[in-house]
Amino acid sequence: MEPIAYQLIRSDRKTIAIQITPEGTVLVRAPRRAAQAQIQAFVESKRGWIQSHLAAIPKISPAEALSDADIRALADQALSLIPKRVAHFAPLVGVTYGGITIRNQRSRWGSCSARGNLNFNCLLMLCPAEILDYVVVHELCHRKEMNHSPRFWAEVERVLPDYRRREAWLKANGGAILARMTAGHTNF
Ligand SMILES: [Zn+2]
Repeated sequence: MEPIAYQLIRSDRKTIAIQITPEGTVLVRAPRRAAQAQIQAFVESKRGWIQSHLAAIPKISPAEALSDADIRALADQALSLIPKRVAHFAPLVGVTYGGITIRNQRSRWGSCSARGNLNFNCLLMLCPAEILDYVVVHELCHRKEMNHSPRFWAEVERVLPDYRRREAWLKANGGAILARMTAGHTNF
């Protein structure tokens, strides 16, 4: 097996931890005095986890404009998948919801109205499944907190303890995906 390539960051910490950036770099954080062999063994012990996370990072062709047919196909996919993910997560968040609408938008991934109606962007179908799940949980948590207060984020974290990584992915990659929605498409 090929050794796993990673970037090592030593600091005043007590444990070794692995993080995968949205771009697919494996960052290993280790105590200053940790032996190289110990770090290597730790990374190897996490091989399966690392590889599954790297595989989940999509290869997005940059700024390729989507046609009406592309968007219709994404909207169809979204209509069949997103309500299932909402139904899965709503009881975990502990909320009810109203209607679910799929939109094609250039500005936002989802929204939640005061009445609990949920909107989701069909471009979520171009994101990894774990990112879609994050947006679903985010909007469902707005059923409890209609803001981005610490209480809101605590609720997101309760359901998705690694939400920060998913949010970071969206911050790093979301703009390029939204940019593929050029002006002038109607909502399907
Ligand atoms: Zn929000």
